[in-house]
Amino acid sequence: MELKRSLLPESDLPVEWYNLLADLPEPLPPPIHPLTKEPLDPAALERIFAKELIRQEVSQERWIGIPDEVRRVYALWRPTPLVRARNLEKALKTPARIYFKDESHSPPGSHKPNTAVAQAYYNKIQGIRRLSTETGAGQWGSSLAFACSFFGLECKVYMVKVSYHQKPYRRVMMQLWGATVTPSPSEETECGRKILASDPNCPGSLGIAISEAVEVALKNDDTNYTLGSVLNHVMLHQTVIGLEAEKQMKEFGDWPDVVIGCVGGGSNFAGLAFPFLRHKLAGKEMRFVAAEPKACPSLTRGMYRYDFGDTSMLTPLLKMHTLGHSFVPAGIHAGGLRYHGMAPMVSFAVKLGLVEAVALHQRECFEAARLFAATEGIIPAPETSHAIRAAIIEALKCKETGEEKCILFNLSGHGICDLGAYERYLAGELEDYELPQEQIDQALAELPAVE
Ligand SMILES: *Cc1c(COP(=O)(O)O)cnc(C)c1O
Repeated sequence: MELKRSLLPESDLPVEWYNLLADLPEPLPPPIHPLTKEPLDPAALERIFAKELIRQEVSQERWIGIPDEVRRVYALWRPTPLVRARNLEKALKTPARIYFKDESHSPPGSHKPNTAVAQAYYNKIQGIRRLSTETGAGQWGSSLAFACSFFGLECKVYMVKVSYHQKPYRRVMMQLWGATVTPSPSEETECGRKILASDPNCPGSLGIAISEAVEVALKNDDTNYTLGSVLNHVMLHQTVIGLEAEKQMKEFGDWPDVVIGCVGGGSNFAGLAFPFLRHKLAGKEMRFVAAEPKACPSLTRGMYRYDFGDTSMLTPLLKMHTLGHSFVPAGIHAGGLRYHGMAPMVSFAVKLGLVEAVALHQRECFEAARLFAATEGIIPAPETSHAIRAAIIEALKCKETGEEKCILFNLSGHGICDLGAYERYLAGELEDYELPQEQIDQALAELPAVE
């Protein structure tokens, strides 16, 4: 398969992904089986995931080669720009230097295809014919549909029913890239039928959609399941972001004092931060800030415990910061940040004191997004606005102290498909949610009894 701009591998693209697991001072707690409470045998995952992805999930190798076929697709939009946000600096009157890595350049508009392309490739070479997945607002589904189209794979997406009807544009993107999109719950699966039988008007949830996508993968040998965040191999694939940024910062003759990303499942943050984190582990003084919504504050108010990755309790138990698998966050507009848990690798880095977390209200984030759009031109995704707000907070601290710090944040995606949320923001209709402690306590009480 030849694609335009495929003059590789001599390009600026990284040739390897970076695996932080090789450099952590302590081993990451492994996933465990919910019934036996024993560490999970990775082979058990082969029923729904590609073998090479499982190998990467548990690999301790520091560098893992990126196949040329994957780099050829990356080359459609990578390397992404690293931009100095001079207009934003001026508007803030800060002595800080602010840079952002612009992942909105990918065709689906976010960082997610960095892993979607790799996952599609490894499934294709294993002889898998079709991939299934779930999607909420459609960011992951559209990235997987895009990736599958390059490797001749069928793509089956279960989309949460309310989003299917309320957010048509990403559904159309998926369909243009050849995916089949089904509103969830559906009549196609046993679990979908069961839910519809008891509640025909069920609006759906990510938990239900996951159950449908996993069921299809379990029941069909030619179909595998894919996940767009949380797992170690997803963090690994996203490190192309930080590896490129490292090189680009050097080209600027600069180096970040603070690295910032928004966190839902943790993958775009990990992608930018982990390659830089290896320098901190080697003794360089740097700070890392993960920005989450106050309406879903898993890192700042959750517990570091073993919990299910999904609402329906189908997955292995993962050691992570969690609000409890039964936790249902308020309907904030940063849909990609409404996840009860956090990537085990990001959680562990927080636990070890390598990464700080900050929780932000949605209105201050939309305000930051408005300023960013007015100064740097790009309309960011509502998720991304959390990283921008966190960067602005750091820059304003510098203004007070006179410190000339260098701040780097990840622009995880654009907000062109999220204009409905901006419309509500401009109309003054957005609310801030501060989570009552009782609601957290209630969900945490349902954690499985494993420390
Ligand atoms: C999905 C998404 C996120 C959140 O997911 P992570 O795995 O935490 O990166 C953030 N920003 C954008 C634009 C997204 O699409």
